[in-house]
Amino acid sequence: MLIDTHCHLDAKSCEGGADAAISRARAAGVHAFVAIGVGSLETAREVLELGRRRPDVVCTVGVHPHDASTLDDTLFVELEALARDPLVVAIGEIGLDYHYDHSPRDVQQTVFRRLIALARSLGKPIVVHTRSAPADTLAVLEAERARDVGGVIHCFSEDRAFAERAFDLGFDVSFSGIVTFKNATSVQEVARWAPEDRILVETDSPYLAPVPKRGRSNEPSYIVHTAARVAELRGASLEHVSRVTTENACRRFGERLDAAVRSRQD
Ligand SMILES: [Zn+2]
Ligand SMILES: [Zn+2]
Repeated sequence: MLIDTHCHLDAKSCEGGADAAISRARAAGVHAFVAIGVGSLETAREVLELGRRRPDVVCTVGVHPHDASTLDDTLFVELEALARDPLVVAIGEIGLDYHYDHSPRDVQQTVFRRLIALARSLGKPIVVHTRSAPADTLAVLEAERARDVGGVIHCFSEDRAFAERAFDLGFDVSFSGIVTFKNATSVQEVARWAPEDRILVETDSPYLAPVPKRGRSNEPSYIVHTAARVAELRGASLEHVSRVTTENACRRFGERLDAAVRSRQD
């Protein structure tokens, strides 16, 4: 049994519809889904609707660093109201992306700080997106006392030194399809070494499909390939990695996810 701890299941991201993708994933042994509500208020609402309809889906809401420029006070108030919903298990994905720089870096930092403050006020963990911004991401997490709520470094693509700091700051790391890529040696090193109680797995679908599906549109059923690679790197069985990553995800995201895992809907 596996949990996809980070997938984009809104209609725009999920070709053919979320229900069909979830059915294929359930057939592959994936029993719960953390659906990420970013991109717009409409997407956040859409993902919450999915969670209301399906007991195996829980949600996050946030502002992706790409969209940081779109956060004004009106949007913040709306997001804050959505974030209070018990179905929302975390604030995210939030963070810094200096690779694409779709929003100015100072704006990304301001928004990241503001949403960490929101998460702290609600007592919910955060899901962090970080790309080409390791030092600033760690500095913001530390300065904003993100440790008080903790969370996940999603789609982990950094190195061991970063992971050590993230663990110190109360964060887990989540492996995506990147860990299956031949050249991702520093990510593989972390997958080999990371403490067993600090690792999660995710697809980040529709992006970054794992080998052997690389190049295709990703979907939650493909998480099996990522979990299998993590197991291989750790010299563990797939069953063992499935069990510990499920336990870790439930510990991190709380009883709502635990209930989603135990729900039966086919
Ligand atoms: Zn991301
Ligand atoms: Zn994502």
